[in-house]
Amino acid sequence: MSSTQLLPPGAGDKKRFLQNCIHCGKCVEACRFDALKITEGLNPMTAGTPYIDPEKAPCFLCMHCGPACPTGAISAIEQKDADMGAAFLDKNQCFTYLGAVICRTCFEKCPMRNTAIVLENGYLPVITDQCVGCGVCAYVCPRHAITLIPRERIHEKVRSEA
Ligand code: SF4
Ligand code: SF4
Repeated sequence: MSSTQLLPPGAGDKKRFLQNCIHCGKCVEACRFDALKITEGLNPMTAGTPYIDPEKAPCFLCMHCGPACPTGAISAIEQKDADMGAAFLDKNQCFTYLGAVICRTCFEKCPMRNTAIVLENGYLPVITDQCVGCGVCAYVCPRHAITLIPRERIHEKVRSEA
């Protein structure tokens, strides 16, 4: 799994997830947005398990994978509990903060808009601590102003900014 790839929403801890996934592919079939892919390769722990590459197809939080999973490797949870990572917006790159144009694309496309992204003063996008890291905003931003950090790498980012 590359550093930008995500586990499905509801996968939780990676070790627990890998121990419980039986590589049946039911989650991949259930995804409404074709976001889940099957890991290839020869590693018996990871080959056949689902992952999300948010740069190619982010998770739109349809939440169909959890109920489809027969083992509980992916829990059936609500959007707000998806906990896949977190998105970070660079104001120095954003069209709206730069004053070029009022864009709002990230806000409009976020499956949790008005919760995970709010508009300050009615037009400036702000990503809140409610962001679950689905990757949609980073995927749609025309300026590539948003970076998505997977759950297991968030502590590295916090440490690098300390
Ligand atoms: S989509 Fe990108 S450029 Fe547009 S408002 Fe959001 S961060 Fe700014
Ligand atoms: S702010 Fe971005 S990463 Fe977070 S939930 Fe919304 S679209 Fe997904």
